[in-house]
Amino acid sequence: MSQHFTSTRSENIAVSPSQAMALGISPDGGLFVPLENSEAFDPLWFVGKTYSQTAEKILGAYFSDFTDGEIKHCAEAAYNTQNFETQEIFTLESLGDFSFLELFRGRTLAFKDAALSVFPHLLRLALQKQGIKEKLAILVATSGDTGKAAMQAFGGIDGFSAIVFYPYEGVSEVQLLQMLTQMDSNASAVAVRGNFDDAQSAVKDVFADGAFHAKMHGAGYSLSSANSINIGRLFPQVAYYFYAYAKLIQKGAISPGDKVNFSVPSGNFGNILAGFYAMKAGLPVNKLIVASNDNTVLFDFFRSGIYDTKREFIKTISPSMDILVSSNLERLVYEAVGRDAGNSAGLMQQLSAFGRYELESGDGSPLKNFYASYATEGEARDAIKKVWEKHGYMMDTHTACGYKAYSDYAKAASDGCHTVILATASPLKFPQAVYEAAFGQASLSGIEYLHALSEKASIPIPAPLAGIQEKPRRQEAVIDSSALREYISSFLSSQLQG
Ligand SMILES: *Cc1c(COP(=O)(O)O)cnc(C)c1O
Repeated sequence: MSQHFTSTRSENIAVSPSQAMALGISPDGGLFVPLENSEAFDPLWFVGKTYSQTAEKILGAYFSDFTDGEIKHCAEAAYNTQNFETQEIFTLESLGDFSFLELFRGRTLAFKDAALSVFPHLLRLALQKQGIKEKLAILVATSGDTGKAAMQAFGGIDGFSAIVFYPYEGVSEVQLLQMLTQMDSNASAVAVRGNFDDAQSAVKDVFADGAFHAKMHGAGYSLSSANSINIGRLFPQVAYYFYAYAKLIQKGAISPGDKVNFSVPSGNFGNILAGFYAMKAGLPVNKLIVASNDNTVLFDFFRSGIYDTKREFIKTISPSMDILVSSNLERLVYEAVGRDAGNSAGLMQQLSAFGRYELESGDGSPLKNFYASYATEGEARDAIKKVWEKHGYMMDTHTACGYKAYSDYAKAASDGCHTVILATASPLKFPQAVYEAAFGQASLSGIEYLHALSEKASIPIPAPLAGIQEKPRRQEAVIDSSALREYISSFLSSQLQG
């Protein structure tokens, strides 16, 4: 079946998957969504399959203008033991009624690797199919984890340059070191004064600036994004929902056909949205549990239908979820208004003009499949300590929000369904916050917590983090959000000379 993509903001757009991937965002500012109802998968087909085989099946359905051979190549090039620390790629730890799906086994220790390990392979083919021969400059706004994953994915790859923008003093020390020690000359990380939303909106401004595109074009570059609004980031994530379900069957934790819940630590809403697409494609899902931290904009939206960004931005111990403008929510809103692009375009216009919109949705609304909750800082810390003491399992600060939201849901509803909590980062990525939550304060400094946590929780330091503090690193560059264009031009022109 051939799949086309349309825009959340205009009805008359229908592009091929490779075109949607190459464009990143629709020319009307909307996001690309599948036009046809996706092929329904038989969840039992995935039982006993490797992750690469699972991904191949899913990718093939969404990226229908790629040949079977191309899809197989992409899946195999991404999901192997060079890029992931285990043959299983992602591991599932079951603790009774719930399990952790450990999505942090890749090179940057966060779930972003799930999509970013395959994305460059998909993108390269998409550009070929579109006859795009220019070099590609990948611009990324990151709340911490996407930055390193994108630098890792595109670093050293011919034809690509990657520039990532992260909030100055808004990422963890390990996250910062991970970015600064990525020494490929075609990759750069720069701190932007302000918070993640400021960085994200500055990058969006650059994308919307036709004159700047033309200028870069003249210099031999096409601009593209590796943020989760790109379909090449979003749809590969559908695979691990099916994979988790198949593993639960294999372990005997559920029977074929049983419904399960997924609890997902959420920020830009890409991860959980992939779960929604999995459900639409036939996965027996009972509830999708949206977990937030003190930035409760998603929780408030699911409770009231009002999305309101006019509030204080709170810095938390789960920085990758410190977001007020969840870009991917637009795709769910589009479904909730009955795929009426005019209607969703209107709401997004309100968002950019007034920082707020109100959604009226009826009984059949897909929002009914979601339950939302959040963890305060204290609750996230308590959850880490409790799960460590009770189960001997160490969660990171983001996963802790997922656990807390799951506990709230379990108290409110006794549905008898197994719940999979998506473990989105390794606890070693946020060692100080995790250590202090589980074991109390210690008089250690910064990176010493990494070793202390590794020892106390018996988690070996994975290769990508080993000796990270001794690795050669770049000097941190800090710019104002008004200086992005200047930075991009000068970095790209240095690329052409170098
Ligand atoms: C990016 C990230 C999230 C949020 O995921 P979204 O897809 O943006 O909702 C949660 N946890 C961690 C560790 C992350 O890196």
